[in-house]
Amino acid sequence: MTSLRSVQRSADVPPEPMPDPAGGALPGTDLLEALLSGTDADDDPVTHVHRLPARPSRLAAWPDWVGAPLRDRLAERGVPAPFSHQVEAAELARAGSHVVVATGTASGKSLAYQLPALTALADDPRACVLYLAPTKALARDQLASVAALADPSVRPAAYDGDTPMEEREWVRRHSRWIVTNPDMLHRGVLPAHQKWSSTLRRVAYVVVDECHAYRGVFGSHVGHVLRRLRRICRRYGAEPVFVLASATVADPALAAGRLVGAPVTAVTEDGSPRPGATFALWEPPLTERTGEHGAPLRRSAAADAAGLLADLVEQNARTLAFVRSRRGAESVAEQARAILRSRGRGDLVSRVDSYRGGYLPEERRELERALSTGDLLGVATTNALELGIDIAGLDAVVLAGYPGTLASMWQQAGRAGRAQRESLVVFVARDDPLDHYLAHHPRAVFGRPVEATVTDPANPYVLGPQLCCAAAELPLTHADLADFGGEVAEAQVGELVAEGLLRTRPTGWYWAGRGRPDVDIRGSGAAPVSIVEGATGRLLGTVDGDASHATVHTGALYVHRGETYVVDELDVEDACAVVHPESPEWTTVARDTVDLSIVSTDRTRRLGAVTAHTGVVDVTNQVVAYQRRRLGTGEVLAEFPLDLPPRQLRTRAVWLTLDERAIDRADVDDAALPGSLHAAEHASIGLLPLLATCDRWDLGGVSTALHPDTGAATIVVYDGHPGGAGFAERGYAVLRDWLQATRATVASCECESGCPSCVQSPKCGNGNDPLDKAGAVRVLDVVLDELAHAPELTAEELEVTRRPALRPALPGASTPTTTEADPGTEAGTAGPDPADLVF
Ligand SMILES: [Zn+2]
Ligand SMILES: [Zn+2]
Repeated sequence: MTSLRSVQRSADVPPEPMPDPAGGALPGTDLLEALLSGTDADDDPVTHVHRLPARPSRLAAWPDWVGAPLRDRLAERGVPAPFSHQVEAAELARAGSHVVVATGTASGKSLAYQLPALTALADDPRACVLYLAPTKALARDQLASVAALADPSVRPAAYDGDTPMEEREWVRRHSRWIVTNPDMLHRGVLPAHQKWSSTLRRVAYVVVDECHAYRGVFGSHVGHVLRRLRRICRRYGAEPVFVLASATVADPALAAGRLVGAPVTAVTEDGSPRPGATFALWEPPLTERTGEHGAPLRRSAAADAAGLLADLVEQNARTLAFVRSRRGAESVAEQARAILRSRGRGDLVSRVDSYRGGYLPEERRELERALSTGDLLGVATTNALELGIDIAGLDAVVLAGYPGTLASMWQQAGRAGRAQRESLVVFVARDDPLDHYLAHHPRAVFGRPVEATVTDPANPYVLGPQLCCAAAELPLTHADLADFGGEVAEAQVGELVAEGLLRTRPTGWYWAGRGRPDVDIRGSGAAPVSIVEGATGRLLGTVDGDASHATVHTGALYVHRGETYVVDELDVEDACAVVHPESPEWTTVARDTVDLSIVSTDRTRRLGAVTAHTGVVDVTNQVVAYQRRRLGTGEVLAEFPLDLPPRQLRTRAVWLTLDERAIDRADVDDAALPGSLHAAEHASIGLLPLLATCDRWDLGGVSTALHPDTGAATIVVYDGHPGGAGFAERGYAVLRDWLQATRATVASCECESGCPSCVQSPKCGNGNDPLDKAGAVRVLDVVLDELAHAPELTAEELEVTRRPALRPALPGASTPTTTEADPGTEAGTAGPDPADLVF
C-alpha cells in the first residue's frame, strides 16, 4: 500500500506545509532585510530583488470523458479538481495530438497524462501505456502513483535493468502500464519486438516524463529510439499518442517535436498555485586577492553561502544551501558552524549539517524528519538532493552558483515556499561569465525562458548507428526514412551500404553486419577509460574516452562522486587510469594545442563586414602539459609536460569572420587583434549555455587573426562531441541574443583587464594569454551593429540542413577510424570548482 505522502508527491502536488518549529522565521523580504542589516550600501552584494507573487490556482472542470472511479480516487488523494493546464493537455492527448506540458516544478504534470492514459486503459481492457523516465527515483514514484489511481487490471510494473529475469516475462504478458526507460527500449524491447508484439500493438500512449533530460548526443539517440518505437508500433497497427512532460524551457514544442520526430503541441499556461517568494540575486564583491595574470578575484560563492546559511539559521529559518561539490557542501556547513561559534551561538552549531547523495533510505528519512521538525535548521547539500528526498516548504534556499540549467535552478528554488508565508531564495553568483550575467540580468532568470533543450538527430554519428539498429529490427523502406531525417537519412543509408553494414533488397535495406548492432546510446564512440585505485585494485568508475586526456592525464586531480584522487598514470593503450586518494591544496588544468580546419560550410549569413557560418570542422587536439593551480585563486604553481598522442574530432561549429572594414571599425590594431578575438571567444563560450542546455565544458573554441581556411580574422565555437550535439547550430540560430549577452557580460564586469567573471576561461589551452577585454567589447559591438541591420532569420533558415558523407566508417566496417575529441569534452567530469573550496 502506498502512503498518501508519496502519492501526493508523484502526482506533483506540493507536499503538505511543514509544521512550524518553535518560533518560526520571518517572511522572505524581512529575512533579506535582516541579512543585509549592517552591510553598507557600497558593499551590498544584492544586484536585484525579485518578488514572485503568490499565484492562485486556476481550476478547470473534469472533462466529461474522465470516469467517476478515477475522479473519486483523485478526490480521495486530495485532488478535488484539475488545474487548467492539466485539462488542456489531457484534452489534446485525448483528441490524438502529441502534446508536451511545459509548466513549473510541482505543477502537477503527471495528471495531464494520467487522465487520458488511465481513461484509455479503463475504456479498453486490452490497451497499454509505456511510460519512460530518466531516473529510477521518478520511475518508482510513478509506479506508486499509478498503482494508487488505476484499477487492479492495469498492474503497473517496472521493466528496467533491475527487473529480475523471472519477472520480465510476467511484465510483458500482464502489465498494462509499463514503466521503463529509453535504454531498455533500445536494448531490450525493440530488438525483441516479436516477443513484445502483443503489448506493442495495443500501446495507446507513450509518456516521456522529464523530457528535458534528453539533450545533447544522448538526447539525439533517444530521439531515434522513439522514432524506432513509433515505426515498430505502426508495423503492429498501433499509432500511440506521445505525451511529454518538460521543465519550462524556450520553445518546448520544437524541442519535443525533434525528440519524437513528429509535430507536438505545447501547453505552457500553468494553472497551479504557487506560494510567494522573494528572490535575490547576489554577487560577491571583488577582493584584494589576485589570480592568473593578476586578475582580481571575487569572494567565493561558497564563502558567501556559508555566511548566509549562518545568518539564516540565526534567524530561525529552515534553509537548504545547494553547493556544486560534496567537498564544497561540507566546507559550507563547517564554515557556517564556525561563524555561529564565533558569534557565541554554540547552541545552534548542532543544527547545521551537510548532506550528499548515496545515503541509505533510513538516513534520508531521518534527514527529512530532522528538517521538518526544525531539529536541523541549516543543511548544505550537493545537487544529489534534487532527487529522491522529500523536502519542501522551507523558509529559505541558497544557491551557491548556477546549477547549470534554469530547470535545475527552479527545481532547487522550489524547495522553498510555504502556503501561508513567502520564502526567500538567494542565488549567489560564482566567479564565472554565466553566473555574472545572470546576477545582472534578472530577465534571463525571471522572464520568458531563453534556454532551449537541444538535440541533433541528424548527427551522422548518431543517425548511422541508429539506422543500423532500425534495419536490424525491421528492414528499412524509403517511407521509413522520411521519419529518420529524409534526405540526410537516405545519404546515410547509401554510406552504410557502401560499408557493407546494410544490404539493398527489393523489399528494403537489411542489416548485413555481424551479430546485432552494438550501439551505446550514452557514449560518444571512444572507449571509456577505467579509473582504478592503485592500492586496492578497486574499479572506481569510468570516464568518457573523449574526455580522458584532459581529465585523467597523469598527474591530474580527479573528482569521483565528490571524493578527490590524483592520477598516478594514464595508460592510453589499456584505457585505464590508476589513481590514489589525495586532497591537495591545488587543482590541475590541462594545456592543449588545437588545430582546426573547416570541412564544409552549410550555411552562411553575410552581415556586411562580418559573416556568420555554420558547418563541419575537423579539430586536432593534443594535451601537451598540465598546470597545478592553487585552489581558490587559480595561481599557477608549476607546469609539467605530458606525452599524449593527438586526437581527431569531426564536429559542427559556428564561426564568425571579420573583414578589414570590421577590424578598422573596431579600432583594434594588429597587436590587439588576437587578444580581442580570443577574449570574445572565451566569453561567448561561457554564455552559450544560457541559450542551449549545455555546459561550457561541452564546447571548444579557436580564434585567430588569420585563419588559413577563411582568409580572415575568425572566431570559432564548436561542439565538443563527435558529429556535434546541436549546440553550435543553436548558437548560429540565436546569434544576436547570444552575442548581446556575451557583450553585456564583458562590458559590465568591474575588473580592469579581464577576470574569471568575464573573459578568462578555466580551460584555456593558452593559459589565458593573450586576452584583450576592451578590444573584445569593440569587436562584439561591430558584429552586433551588423546584426542589428540584418533581417531576421526565417523559420526555414533556422531548420538544420546537413551535408551528408561526414561520418567516418562505423566500427565493424572495413576501415575503422578512431575519432576522439578535444579540450571541450570534459562535461560533467570537471575538477572541483575552486570557488567552491575556498574561504
Ligand atoms: Zn572581469
Ligand atoms: Zn583560450
